[in-house]
Amino acid sequence: MPAYPEFSDLVDAHCHLQDGFLRTALPAALARARAAGVRLMCCNGTHERDWPYVLGLGLSNADICVSLGLHPWYVDFRSTDWLVRLESLVAAHPVGIGEIGLDNALDQRNDQVQEDVFLAQMDLAARYDRPVTVHCRKAFGRLADLVRSMSPRPRRMMLHAYAGSHEMVPVFEKLGFHISICASITRPANAKARLACQRVAPERLLVESDSPAIAPLGIDFERNEPAYLPYVVRELATLRSEEPAGLALRCATNARLFFAGCGRGNF
Ligand SMILES: [Zn+2]
Repeated sequence: MPAYPEFSDLVDAHCHLQDGFLRTALPAALARARAAGVRLMCCNGTHERDWPYVLGLGLSNADICVSLGLHPWYVDFRSTDWLVRLESLVAAHPVGIGEIGLDNALDQRNDQVQEDVFLAQMDLAARYDRPVTVHCRKAFGRLADLVRSMSPRPRRMMLHAYAGSHEMVPVFEKLGFHISICASITRPANAKARLACQRVAPERLLVESDSPAIAPLGIDFERNEPAYLPYVVRELATLRSEEPAGLALRCATNARLFFAGCGRGNF
């Protein structure tokens, strides 16, 4: 692993420490993240079965900030009282809402169910004033329409692993979204992501690993971890013609403001 001594304060705005190889190799991965300068990791639950474990990670680690939600990939597996369970956890703990969203890249899906599940959780985020983390694939226009029609709307929203067009960046910013950038920008063939990340307003910019998936170029795609966040920051700095350490610090500040009140509150 390369040393990036210029990074002493990174925030990973989105990851899944409960998934893949991280599930059984977490202590070592957390140690590597801390050694790489990652001071806060925002870990998202994606379905009812992982909520208790993810919640526990946040309770036992001051540098893990938790969000809980029902991801569009898992809507078919939800229980009848999933929303009641989610609301009781949200009411009892300082957590964000996520990962939730719309995914029109899924072959088998029910758009109405996806939207109902998404909007119920957006409503929860608005009522409890929690930051919300949104996943979106091939549904950006629909997402913008749905959010535009919401009242009230969550005060803090982020589009994670942004895969939309550069033209949609200002549209989502106007709706109140932060935009989180992942290692997709390290792939030269991904011109869309490399262009879009240059359009994000400085105060709305976040960086994330989305680990254990979407590893930087040159690393096993499913073996991503927060310690690789410096790869994202360095590429983002190059694309935006910015100085890496300053960019990292700004993204960390943005993330702390975004997740204010979540976790133990001492990050
Ligand atoms: Zn995710």
